[in-house]
Amino acid sequence: MPLHINTPLIESRPLSIAAHCTVNLKLDALQPCGSFKLRGVGHACEIHRANGAQRFISSSGGNAGLAVAYAGRKMGVPVVVVVPETTTERAKELLALEGAEVIVHGSSWQEANQLAQGLIKGSDAFIHPFDDPLLWTGHASLIDEVAASGQKPDAVVLSVGGGGLLCGVVEGLQRNGWHDVPVIAVETQGAASFHAATLVGKPVQLDQITSIATSLGAKRVCDQAVNYLASHSIHSELVSDQQALDACERFLFDHRILVEPACGAALAVVYKGAALKSFSNVLVVVCGGATASLEQIRLWAQKTANNP
Ligand SMILES: *Cc1c(COP(=O)(O)O)cnc(C)c1O
Repeated sequence: MPLHINTPLIESRPLSIAAHCTVNLKLDALQPCGSFKLRGVGHACEIHRANGAQRFISSSGGNAGLAVAYAGRKMGVPVVVVVPETTTERAKELLALEGAEVIVHGSSWQEANQLAQGLIKGSDAFIHPFDDPLLWTGHASLIDEVAASGQKPDAVVLSVGGGGLLCGVVEGLQRNGWHDVPVIAVETQGAASFHAATLVGKPVQLDQITSIATSLGAKRVCDQAVNYLASHSIHSELVSDQQALDACERFLFDHRILVEPACGAALAVVYKGAALKSFSNVLVVVCGGATASLEQIRLWAQKTANNP
């Protein structure tokens, strides 16, 4: 039994009307730890466990760390998550709720990650948040489930942070014979490391992340995400923080599900509609995210409205 669940695939009337085409939602916000990350992280943890891992180590204060904490608790394997001081109280609380040991270290992810790397001993497994083929193979199960439903989309819309979800979805499309289904890869301005890579054909290191969509905040995407540009049709789209936040509020109203701005980014492209005008049947990966509250989303929206 895998750790992730087979999530609902539902038609959305409000998004279909907004985008002038049929929009189906893959509701990975409903995974037990709140995001799609459990697909790949669960798969990686199972393989490491089978190979004798006694402890899982993560340096993500976001949904990847939460997925590792969830997987460890379910498998009876201790988990250590090292997070920087900038991690929200809410994220630390969620990690503690899963029984993970949380170590707060350093002012940036780089510093937290350095400490995490130093903790790794012989029987430990480090679980990367996006750059690992085991993760992509696990994420690909999302497309297997859509294929099993018999509904072939003519495009897939998803968010891109470090590119793990993108790699998993492309792997899933290709292993189901859906090589002809393009992917619309969405980022917020200020976290657009994949967009920067598409312009030059190789990964680019951003100086800084300025978007509030912290789950998209990888300064550099994984090489495989860029390699796929050669073998798959992938269109890069950008939205503003404001548009991502508006999409979160609108999606909460339309479907009664609260998602992070990282997921709101993909939804914003659907609500805007323009980028989808050549398609008739679009699949949207509702990737979810457990770390945002409605209060936080409204605070961000106020701030971005004051400093557009
Ligand atoms: C991790 C995450 C993303 C981005 O996924 P990558 O694999 O890093 O590209 C998007 N949305 C949410 C909610 C996430 O947790």
